[in-house]
Amino acid sequence: MSAIGTLYIMSAPSGAGKSSLISALLSSDIGNASVSVSHTTRAPRPGEIDGQHYHFVDVDTFKQLIEANEFFEWAEVFGNFYGTSKAAIEVQLASGTDVFLDIDWQGAQQVKKLMPEAQGVFILPPSRAELERRLIGRGQDSDEVIAGRMAQAISEMSHYNEYDFILVNDDFDTTLNQLSAIVIGQRQRKASQVAAYSDMLKDLLAE
Ligand code: GDP
Ligand code: ADP
Ligand code: 5GP
Repeated sequence: MSAIGTLYIMSAPSGAGKSSLISALLSSDIGNASVSVSHTTRAPRPGEIDGQHYHFVDVDTFKQLIEANEFFEWAEVFGNFYGTSKAAIEVQLASGTDVFLDIDWQGAQQVKKLMPEAQGVFILPPSRAELERRLIGRGQDSDEVIAGRMAQAISEMSHYNEYDFILVNDDFDTTLNQLSAIVIGQRQRKASQVAAYSDMLKDLLAE
C-alpha cells in the first residue's frame, strides 16, 4: 500500500487554542495522526519537556541546522527561531500518517510553496478580548510576553485568507468536531482512496 498522509498547517494568533485542539484531536479516536515536534531557541515553559513539546536548542545549534539544510521550514517568531525539521515529517507522511504542523504564517507560506497539497487550517478566536483572556488564563507567559503576543496577534490574523480552512474556536468541542470532520473528509479524497484500495479496485473492475 502506498498511502501518503496529509500535512496540515495549523496557524493562529498565540492563545487561540491551536496546541489544545491538536492535542485533543490526537488523543481522540482519529487514528494515524501525529504532531511534528519543532526546534526552537525559546526557553522551555514550566512543564514543557524537551523532545516532546519542542526540541529546545541554542541559537548556534539552530544556525548549524539551517546550514546543514536540516529544516523543511524555519522562521523568526516573537524574537526566537522556530523550525520544522525534515526528519520530523518525512518518514511519518511516507508511512501514511497525517502530520500536524503548529507553525506561524511565515512557515505556512514556505510549506505551501514546497508542498501545495498540504492543507492550511487557520484558527481564529471569537474576539480580541477572549484571546487576551486565554493568554492570561494559560498562566505561562509574563505580562510583557503576553502584551507582545497580543500586539502580534493582529498581524498573524491578517493572514487568515492564505489558508484552506478557517475555524472560529469559540466552543472548544464544536471546533474539535469541525477539525475532525476536515481530517476525515480529506482521507476520503480520491488520491488517498485509490492508494489505499488499489487491490480492491482491481478486483471490483476485473473483466
Ligand atoms: P503558542 O503556540 O502561541 O502557544 O506559542 P509557541 O511558543 O509554542 O509558538 C510560537 C510561534 O511559533 C507560533 O506562532 C507557532 O505557530 C510558531 N511555530 C512553532 N513551531 C514552529 C515551526 O516549526 N515553524 C514555524 N515556522 N513556526 C513555528
Ligand atoms: P495556542 O497554542 O494557539 O497558543 P493554547 O492551545 O495554548 O493556544 O490555548 C490557550 C489557552 O486557551 C489555554 O489555556 C486553553 O486551555 C484555552 N482554550 C483553548 N480553546 C478554548 C476555548 N474554545 N474556550 C476556552 N478556552 C480555550
Ligand atoms: P510558543 O512560543 O508559544 O510555543 O509559539 C509561538 C508561535 O511559534 C506559535 O504561533 C507557533 O505556532 C509558532 N511556531 C512553533 N513552532 C514553529 C515552527 O517550527 N515553525 C514556525 N514557523 N513557527 C513555529
